[in-house]
Amino acid sequence: MADYIVGLTGGIGSGKTTVANLFADLGITLVDADIVAREVVSKDSHGLNAIVNHFGNSVLLDDGNLDRAALRELIFNNDEQRLWINNLLHPLIRQTMLKNCKEAQSNYVIMVAPLLFENGLDRLVQRTLLVDISPELQQQRTIHRDRVSAEQVKNIIGSQASRAEKLSKADDVIDNQGEISALKCKVSALNTLYLKLSSSA
Ligand code: ADP
Repeated sequence: MADYIVGLTGGIGSGKTTVANLFADLGITLVDADIVAREVVSKDSHGLNAIVNHFGNSVLLDDGNLDRAALRELIFNNDEQRLWINNLLHPLIRQTMLKNCKEAQSNYVIMVAPLLFENGLDRLVQRTLLVDISPELQQQRTIHRDRVSAEQVKNIIGSQASRAEKLSKADDVIDNQGEISALKCKVSALNTLYLKLSSSA
């Protein structure tokens, strides 16, 4: 059971997943906010049932899974409905993440959350770690990975907290503007720090 949680964040394409996987290689359990966000509305879940009760069957696909596009359409430009869905899902996501962290067997847990600061998830963790790169590199790596347009990436970057804001809030920062091979060493040093902090917490 792990009581010490490190929140790992960074903008799109910064290298969160790459860094998280290096911690996993060292035996540290990962709890991923994006995965939990999908789990809480999976087929027959409490979350999905509540959404169907509120919006009706039109938010369901034929196979009983959530029709994300239909739900997006319903809450698009509708603050009241957007608030309703956020009020339902945010507490559910938080509770599930904390439960998953508590159940982890490693000495501490890495909570991966792209919007750690934006969604106030930093309040759930003992320490925060930011993967930092310039917006130009962010754009370049995301375009290369996702085959999306520069315009799309710019919009996503614009919707996330600014680089300066994240840098001012994070306890630890990994500069990921160099080679991937340089990350291993940085992760290993942070792992030593987190093992120490979690054992004395
Ligand atoms: P995030 O999870 O923050 O969106 P990823 O870990 O998926 O970011 O990294 C974005 C892309 O950049 C991936 O294709 C990844 O392989 C690549 N990448 C990550 N770190 C580096 C690096 N230091 N040098 C070059 N490419 C990198």
